[in-house]
Amino acid sequence: MDKRIWLSPPYVGDTEEQLLLEAFRSNWIAPAGPALEHFEQGLCHITGAPHAVALSSGTAALHLALALIGTGPGDEVIVPSFTYVATANPVRYCGATPVFVDCEPDSYCMSPHWLEVCIKDRLDKGKKPKAVILAHIYGQVADVPAILQLCNQYQILLIEDAAESLGARIGERMAGTFAPLGAYSFNGNKIITTGGGGALVSLHREPVEHGLYLATQAKAKRPFYFHKELGYNYRMSNLLAAVGLGQLTRLDDRIAIRRGIRHLYQDILTENPGVYFLPEPEGRFFTHWLSVAHFPEGTPGKLVDALEAENVESRRVWMPLHKMPLFNNCAYYGAHSDQQHFDTGLCLPSGEALSAPEQFRITQIIGQALTAQAEQA
Ligand SMILES: *Cc1c(COP(=O)(O)O)cnc(C)c1O
Repeated sequence: MDKRIWLSPPYVGDTEEQLLLEAFRSNWIAPAGPALEHFEQGLCHITGAPHAVALSSGTAALHLALALIGTGPGDEVIVPSFTYVATANPVRYCGATPVFVDCEPDSYCMSPHWLEVCIKDRLDKGKKPKAVILAHIYGQVADVPAILQLCNQYQILLIEDAAESLGARIGERMAGTFAPLGAYSFNGNKIITTGGGGALVSLHREPVEHGLYLATQAKAKRPFYFHKELGYNYRMSNLLAAVGLGQLTRLDDRIAIRRGIRHLYQDILTENPGVYFLPEPEGRFFTHWLSVAHFPEGTPGKLVDALEAENVESRRVWMPLHKMPLFNNCAYYGAHSDQQHFDTGLCLPSGEALSAPEQFRITQIIGQALTAQAEQA
């Protein structure tokens, strides 16, 4: 059997190995050290965010963002329904309640229309939301200008979950740098990885400084241990920052490769009837971290099996979060575009090492499975 093709495996090289070895030999084997500072500077340089703090995960970054603004029991936080569970879990960590908002029919990201409906209804019910977290999904960039405008109008703080979209942008402005607070992830499957990690970025110095303080157990500057605030152990290790530093050097190439993969899939797969891809609107630049193809309803599950039989990993798109038992009874505002995406969408292997012959093989397996299904029907 052919070697397994994974959905989005890490892609590392000699640079990462060299930098990791240097960090190791320098004995900065701790959540402190020069690689961490360089990694944060590199991230600021690449994203245009003036301030960044490197953390143990993207989830930690989102939790810290909510903690920084004092989210607590009784609060409501508006989150997208079409996203990874890690966007919503930190709301629960704070004892607060997520309220879900649908995505757009032609995008994976939060719908400004349904966001406004949601905000108005929560206000009518006498509950002013504590924050809105938007998520940039699968390398897309959300309609942040519209969402930010709503948040400004209703005076609600916006947090950007850019875990999946480092490098995506509107004009020159990067996903993650529109809102007062933005979060990135460097998990093993993301466009760059530290083998597990994340970062909180901001346009302002204060929240990032305070974030660093809270991420290192909120130790007061005294000659003995003294704590006024609830802190966390969320700092990234210097060793992992060294890996991240290497990964950052090739971000543009990584994005170009992922975009190429997506375009090849699109060219070949759309020759099958009923197959489509969501558009990349004028003025937006998507990284296509994961290539997502849409098929006739009921097909994605069968394609997962057909690909698995050939040792190829694929993955259904996000199941709407408000339909998970974990979020039973949470409010939802939308028209079920999330469900429409779930019924039709499939994430295809998108790793940088994916070769053109491998991609052709994947499209062949899919084409055959679609034909077989059409003949059965
Ligand atoms: C990966 C991801 C996260 C969480 O990042 P981790 O580093 O795995 O904790 C958060 N939100 C979204 C949308 C993600 O895809």
